[in-house]
Amino acid sequence: MAYFDLHCDTVTECWKTGQGLRQNGLALSLCRGRRLSPWCQTFALFIPDDCRGQGAIDRYEALLALYRRELACNADLVAPCCTRGEILAATLDGRCAALLAVEGGAALNGRVERVDALAADGVKLLTLTWNGDNELACGVRGSGGGLTPVGRAVVRRLAQVGMICDLSHLNERGFWEVAEMDLAPLVATHSDLRSVWEHPRNLTDDQFRAVVASGGVVGLNFYVDFLGPDPFEGIYAHLSRALDLGGEDAVAFGSDYDGAEVAKSLDTVDKTAFLWHYLLDRGVPESILQKLFFTNALRLFGKEEFS
Ligand SMILES: [Zn+2]
Repeated sequence: MAYFDLHCDTVTECWKTGQGLRQNGLALSLCRGRRLSPWCQTFALFIPDDCRGQGAIDRYEALLALYRRELACNADLVAPCCTRGEILAATLDGRCAALLAVEGGAALNGRVERVDALAADGVKLLTLTWNGDNELACGVRGSGGGLTPVGRAVVRRLAQVGMICDLSHLNERGFWEVAEMDLAPLVATHSDLRSVWEHPRNLTDDQFRAVVASGGVVGLNFYVDFLGPDPFEGIYAHLSRALDLGGEDAVAFGSDYDGAEVAKSLDTVDKTAFLWHYLLDRGVPESILQKLFFTNALRLFGKEEFS
């Protein structure tokens, strides 16, 4: 079964707990995901709101070093990827295609040119904020402001270097300011829909429609607080609403494994196989499942090439 995940915090959790990526006691490990094929997994390096300035850069460097070390010593199971071609090549080998993300724009320390440094490190996605304010913008629990001048310059630079500007955690004002800049498809890697589950981290119907219109993607989040006690039923509800809003090409997954509590029936990455069968049994056509589980997210990393 195919599985493309736009967000997990496993690398950060490995760093905190001293565990590795191959086998661990976490929600996601390379061995746990082994039977998913093709499997593309985005690994986020998380910079918390209280980590700023040089401290944020040091934190980023430490997480990046761990990510690189873990990928290098598990090269039989995983390959670092930046492009659609690399993702498909890795998955053809039966390996996990790994994408690198940074969650928290504080990693830039307020300097636009650090976007280029992150791009050179292989970072493909940058979540502008976490829940609070930083040098770029304000998160959903922040002071309510919009993008700062540096934030605007960063959004422009991300589009120029081909990095995805991730709008999860950003407040509504910031979301609409990025949307108005109209530079790239709008992407929220790990958010659900507020019309199904009222929570400031989830997107309003208008925000979701804007994502659809831009050709972007929303990664449905598995967090128990957004799905309720039955995660399969919860995902079905968010998916149904997304489809009602015309989102067949805009739905993907951003599990939030190892960053958020997930209810037991979906609490490890291998259990996503049950989700596929559940949704099929609920009458979701296989063509939509293919898009939800893989091809919609893949589209963000390059267009299909015809020879
Ligand atoms: Zn998050």
